[in-house]
Amino acid sequence: MALQNKNKKSVKVVVNICRFLLAVVMTLSGFLKATDPVGAMYKLEEYTTILSMGGFSDAWLLTIAVLQSAFEFLLGLCLLVGIYRRVIPLLALVAMSIFMPLSLYIWQNGSMADCGCFGEAFIISNKATFIKNLFLLIFAVVVFWGRRLIVYRMSARCRWILVLFLLVYIFAMQAVSIWHLPLLDSGPYAVGENIRAKVSYVPDEYDYLGIYRKGNEEIALADDDNPGAGWKRVGVRPVLVKQGTTPEIANFSIVDWEWDIEYADSLLADTGYVCFVAIEKVEDASMTHVDKINDLYEHCDNNGIRFCAATASIDDEIVLWRKRTGAEYPLFFADEVLLRSMIRSNPGLLLFKDGVVVGKWNVSDIPDVEELAVSPTLMPDAVATPYGKSRSLLFWVALLVVVVILVVLFDAFCWYMLRPAIGKKLPEVEDDPVAVDETEEENTETSDINKNTNLLIFKKMRKNIVAGNWKMNMNLQEGIALAKELNEALTADKPNCDVVICTPFIHLASVTPIVDEAIIGVGAENCADKVSGAYTGEVSASMVASTGAKYVILGHSERRAYYGETAEILKEKVQLTLANGLTPIFCIGEVLEERNQGIQNQVVYEQLAGSLYDLSAEDFSKIILAYEPVWAIGTGLTATPEQAEEIHAYIRSTIAEKYGNEVAENTSILYGGSCKPSNAKELFANPNVDGGLIGGAALKVADFKGIIDAFK
Ligand code: PEP
Repeated sequence: MALQNKNKKSVKVVVNICRFLLAVVMTLSGFLKATDPVGAMYKLEEYTTILSMGGFSDAWLLTIAVLQSAFEFLLGLCLLVGIYRRVIPLLALVAMSIFMPLSLYIWQNGSMADCGCFGEAFIISNKATFIKNLFLLIFAVVVFWGRRLIVYRMSARCRWILVLFLLVYIFAMQAVSIWHLPLLDSGPYAVGENIRAKVSYVPDEYDYLGIYRKGNEEIALADDDNPGAGWKRVGVRPVLVKQGTTPEIANFSIVDWEWDIEYADSLLADTGYVCFVAIEKVEDASMTHVDKINDLYEHCDNNGIRFCAATASIDDEIVLWRKRTGAEYPLFFADEVLLRSMIRSNPGLLLFKDGVVVGKWNVSDIPDVEELAVSPTLMPDAVATPYGKSRSLLFWVALLVVVVILVVLFDAFCWYMLRPAIGKKLPEVEDDPVAVDETEEENTETSDINKNTNLLIFKKMRKNIVAGNWKMNMNLQEGIALAKELNEALTADKPNCDVVICTPFIHLASVTPIVDEAIIGVGAENCADKVSGAYTGEVSASMVASTGAKYVILGHSERRAYYGETAEILKEKVQLTLANGLTPIFCIGEVLEERNQGIQNQVVYEQLAGSLYDLSAEDFSKIILAYEPVWAIGTGLTATPEQAEEIHAYIRSTIAEKYGNEVAENTSILYGGSCKPSNAKELFANPNVDGGLIGGAALKVADFKGIIDAFK
């Protein structure tokens, strides 16, 4: 057994390591792409060309690139934090099942320099990308398979806060990068790069040997060696004597087509400032701030500063551009790929000094010429801080780290301090023996914390409750035997929550005296909506109370469905129950059709409002609620922990709205519907699920106790 548990713990460790690695790579890849969405768009364009899917407009490609980065980033971070364990591992698996074969194709096809999975920040070969994606796919399979073993989930509220923040964050970051310039410029023309040095190279050095032939014989001799008589020189062979260097930038070519001369060398050789405007394609260029370029040109011209522009467009388009913008500056030719790599703005301004890029601006950020006119140099402030605060990568990284940590801490704080319900623990995993071991450890620890915080912070807290609903099962003798057996089992092994058994009316008077009321409470399954009188066959709340019972189930879906109990009738029953000092366990829940229509919240709200929301806050706080999705009752179907948590949180929020936070926080909300020992732990681990109302599994002590033990 110990060995088995050890193995299972190892499996859990492996799943979580795979999750961590997958999450880090995905987050990084989404984040880095998001620092340069236009670069990601260019990459996407390459992909669509290779896959023969061209024809998308730039706007479409940019939208897809932005969404893809956001998707990867969100997926990675959700995986890292361990939230949405059902959907996120599945999405990660789907994503990797697409990326992996794609990277194999790109590698085999060989027509793409790199896959761009980390933007331009880390460039890895196509082979390395394939190997990386193969590993990530394996990790994704492991994580999907072991998704229940993912450690740490957040409460639904914090999950929402986090996801909402991440969405706003990643889109805002990309918007800043598009409207200004990439937050992370990893290209060869980043500010500070010495382009003159990057284009320069040392050529290979060669020696030349003379080739001599005599008959069929051939020899090679140094040029000044004499082969002797009879040898005829037939050629020359170059021999490499010193390997040269290759330039880091090989395509820096700007052609002055009027004179058909290379202009790039003289631009880089200039020791003063050179303003260079890159206009990838004049026909696609933004016209919004072109006046700024004209003003800048005038300023440079008046102050003896070199100014030029380059485009990949053809003559006719240039003529049109000059006409539309009034551009008078020299406009040369440069390759589209070069212009794209120089600046992610069309048009965009680069400032060179002594061959070094000292400033870069999106066209909308070009400084006003009035500012320049008062500056002794060209644009000193802008050069010193080419990006404002909101455009600093450090700012964005810090913002992300701080907010994620704050949300995680806040979530943990809420768990440990603000909701220290007895035995409540950090949410963990489902019917898994590995997790059972660990959560038991955690439980002991958390219970201690809870005990202390209970005393220190809150005097009153909601209870965790497991209530059984025997329904119309068992005759009196069987019922007594079951109650006795349960009583013995729970006396021997004290529960860590309140336990209630709700029995048929005829059992009540016999069962109440045989159970220890400090451990087991007894309740009825119904009561009349009348005080007393000529209501043949009915049992009133006061009769129930007279048996020593303390609870009454009201509004069970079976009574609503088969006995026509309406909100009005239930309202009467609730009031009579309370008037007789009994605690109603009030059931609410939607049918399958309503769940499929997505109106479950509305349904439970109407049930609550229709029967309970007329109560005073004092009376309402005596009620226990049981959310029981009708489609899960006795069907073997169970709401997922996420579904249960979501609607429980919603129910609590409506109580808070009606009666305030304190009443809401003190109301126990139980879950009911095919709850069993194997799923109770995960269901009860949710912050807003305070136990269960149990039908079928309450008829066997082993099963019922198994569920009660979920709180251990
Ligand atoms: C119930 O009837 O309240 C109930 C939850 O039933 P079961 O546990 O059998 O689904």
